[in-house]
Amino acid sequence: MKRIAFFPGTFDPFTKGHEDIAIRGTQLFDEVIIGIGHNSKKKRFFPAEKMKDLIELHFENNPQVKVILYQGLTAKVAKDLGACVLLRGLRNTTDFEYENSIAQANRYVNGIDTVFIYTSPEYSHLSSSIIRELHKFGHDVGEFVPFHLKEGI
Ligand code: ADP
Repeated sequence: MKRIAFFPGTFDPFTKGHEDIAIRGTQLFDEVIIGIGHNSKKKRFFPAEKMKDLIELHFENNPQVKVILYQGLTAKVAKDLGACVLLRGLRNTTDFEYENSIAQANRYVNGIDTVFIYTSPEYSHLSSSIIRELHKFGHDVGEFVPFHLKEGI
């Protein structure tokens, strides 16, 4: 049976740090499904549909990576997709504090484990929020994102 990992996140935008986690995930699992959590009430900077298209195009030659938009409870979506685990990245103790309670809840409520991959040091400083801020003020963020982000996408 295919072992699928579900990699959920906001990905606003998807960064080289996320790309690194997804690729390393494919070395552990047969398939990694990147799930862009999409909540119409939560305002994004980069539209979710556009981000999905960009990530999909980026991985078009990697059949182990899929991308979806999803709404609702992450662990339930993961189970419906046939995923055996959730995949998340960890950068620091702040991430750990945040991830710890979510991972415990997901296991308790939905019986799904979370596999964490520790960030590669060259990406440990990368966060979507900093990239958004730089992009907003016209700074070229090309070195932090695996594809070209057009003005205002
Ligand atoms: P969320 O809003 O769900 O935290 P994000 O899109 O910010 O979603 O991040 C998705 C996952 O990727 C999280 O587990 C986060 O800790 C991880 N992540 C973010 N940036 C990096 C990075 N530079 N290196 C490794 N993991 C990262």
